[in-house]
Amino acid sequence: MKIHNLRVEAMRRIAIDGRPKCLICGIDDIETLEIDHINDDGIKDRRNKISQSKYYNKLLNMPIDILRENYGILCILHNQLKRYGIMGEHYKVIKI
Ligand SMILES: [Zn+2]
Repeated sequence: MKIHNLRVEAMRRIAIDGRPKCLICGIDDIETLEIDHINDDGIKDRRNKISQSKYYNKLLNMPIDILRENYGILCILHNQLKRYGIMGEHYKVIKI
């Protein structure tokens, strides 16, 4: 499967209703969406130098409850804001 398709499939799995959208603003244009590591363990994934396809396959094979507990979907803007710590608490409330 192509990387783009793997990414879309992983997002569909994370989304409760199978329709990926930003948890904050609700935008659903797939090209603007990113998979967010809720506890910021993306650093760990990057450090392990895991390839993109391996990473998406990992998400596709992860038990669904663990996947949804640890990953969310945000648009590029809100992912950046979270990264800068601007909406950390706000985001946690929404996700729970
Ligand atoms: Zn957003």
